[in-house]
Amino acid sequence: MPYLYRTSRLKEHQTPKDARITHSSGQSFEQLRQESLQKGILFEDVDFPANNSSLFYSERPQIPFVWKRPWFWQYNEWLDVVIDDRLPTFKDRLIFLHSADQNEFWSALLEKAYAKLNGSYEALKWGSAIEAMEDFTGGVAETFTTKEIPDNFYEILEKALKRGSLVSCSIDVNSAAESEARTPLGLIKGHAYTVTGIDQVSFQGHRTKLIRIRNPWGQVEWNGSWSDSSYEWHSVDPVEQKRLCHAALDDGEFWMALKDFKNHFDKIEICNLTPDALEEDALHKWEVTVHQGSWVRGSTAGGCRNFLDTFWTNPQIKLSLTEKDEGHEECSYLIALMQKDRRKLKRFGANMLTIGYAIYKCPGKDEHLNKDFFRYHASQARSKTFINLREVSGRFKLPPGEYILIPSTFEPHLEADFCLRVFSEKKAITQDLDENVDIYLTEPQKPTAPGEETEEEQQFRALFKQTAGEDLEVTAEELQCVLNAVLQKKKDIQFKKLSLISCKNIISLMDTSGNGKLEFDEFKVFWDKLKKWINLFLQFDTDKSGTMSSYELRTALNAAGFQLSSHLLQMIILRYVDQELQMGFDDFLNCMVRLENASRVFQSLSTHSKEFIYLNINEFINLTMNI
Ligand code: CA
Ligand code: CA
Ligand code: CA
Repeated sequence: MPYLYRTSRLKEHQTPKDARITHSSGQSFEQLRQESLQKGILFEDVDFPANNSSLFYSERPQIPFVWKRPWFWQYNEWLDVVIDDRLPTFKDRLIFLHSADQNEFWSALLEKAYAKLNGSYEALKWGSAIEAMEDFTGGVAETFTTKEIPDNFYEILEKALKRGSLVSCSIDVNSAAESEARTPLGLIKGHAYTVTGIDQVSFQGHRTKLIRIRNPWGQVEWNGSWSDSSYEWHSVDPVEQKRLCHAALDDGEFWMALKDFKNHFDKIEICNLTPDALEEDALHKWEVTVHQGSWVRGSTAGGCRNFLDTFWTNPQIKLSLTEKDEGHEECSYLIALMQKDRRKLKRFGANMLTIGYAIYKCPGKDEHLNKDFFRYHASQARSKTFINLREVSGRFKLPPGEYILIPSTFEPHLEADFCLRVFSEKKAITQDLDENVDIYLTEPQKPTAPGEETEEEQQFRALFKQTAGEDLEVTAEELQCVLNAVLQKKKDIQFKKLSLISCKNIISLMDTSGNGKLEFDEFKVFWDKLKKWINLFLQFDTDKSGTMSSYELRTALNAAGFQLSSHLLQMIILRYVDQELQMGFDDFLNCMVRLENASRVFQSLSTHSKEFIYLNINEFINLTMNI
């Protein structure tokens, strides 16, 4: 018989084996289990005893709770807080959360684990309970206010309950004094109720929508319309009464008309569970896809659409909605964006960034959308607000089609990692548009025969002879001399002297004969490239600052045929730009030379497959020293 359970906060890349021990004995779940098995006893958790000290820290209980142990239990494997299986009950019902199925205790046990982490059940008042559910289940919480409830709320709720989502509701309080105040109709303010069912009955010739709610105290019920002994039930068919299990028990559970619910309650929270948190045979599940990414200053931290110049640099995820919801013309889905601290970035306190997302329609686009797209297209949908919460979620209905989802921080240049989850009714196809690397390199022009040279080419030949000296080959030192002389004369670009190592890199790229020097044809190819790179620099230095900002660089790279993954862009920018996110022509040249060199080497070695090369250590080191 199982008798102790464990649970853990979900962390990325963590498996239950990595779980940190939190029990005061210093023993792991396995050790505690082994000890109990050997002694042949049920585990009793001394850290969180089955008495009132675990239920409350400030309040005295109003009713005598009995701690019971549930049956038929299956524990969730990835689940590291060790608890025993005693749960607080009153009149044979669980006091706090419970599942619609009386034999399912997992939510209650999870809650107990969280209560233990927080010291007591009382610490789990409204708000923290739903966050706890999110932490433990990996689910996504949505908050609705009854004043702005969507038209299809009944359907949303019905599906949520079928999917095993955890649903709670509450009445707002305006002051601490109001907390747990009882309204004349028997409702408690500032108290987390559980929604346990939804149904419709025939009443006076109409279908009336009802919602079943449970007070976790196991008593104190609504006494208005459709409450336990209200007159409405008298005119309901006994078969329907039976179907709704209507019995006037003072057990804390009651029905209300949905319209009364909207009038009396203020908030509803739904914790949507991912399929892996549900039983395998559950019929109704969300389809879930997950994308991990980062906002990095200078490359992918673009900020929201208010910042047009940088907004387009944010990560972009393509969402293809193909199947409509059953019986509907649109596709419903839920988007949850969660921020995480960057691993290398120490942040102090709970410093959350303001985050949100936008959705654009973009049929037939498979590459990262550029600035112009956002200049001329409005978003199709957005997160309700940009807000400094750990997670922002929202529910949408859109016609089938292709969309681009853009998660961002509100202000640009702020860094965090994020996890974006798309919950959809039918399978949705998502694709990260910033994962791929596509490189198109143009082949250099064939040199013209000496007799057919134009005047410009003849001038160039003279420059070469002057640079190369008697051997008619250009060394790195000679290249350094000529490049510095030529580039320093360009007034519209900022340029620091090229180092010898940069010139060696250039030689390494251009030296096809492998003698470490450039002969005329090699030098000519390089000079043509140099002219192209100078033009590129001048063209994409859009603010004419004489330097290339990281954002200008991204467009310039695209124009030069380099479509890089966000990871590569982040790395290049980290390496080449200064504090102000700018690079001069010298760094730009270095960057272009190395990028082109690496791409050409890869292309020449990836003869069997266009995607992979195979190198031994000798070849690998040879390459990295040369590029
Ligand atoms: Ca020479
Ligand atoms: Ca050579
Ligand atoms: Ca610039």
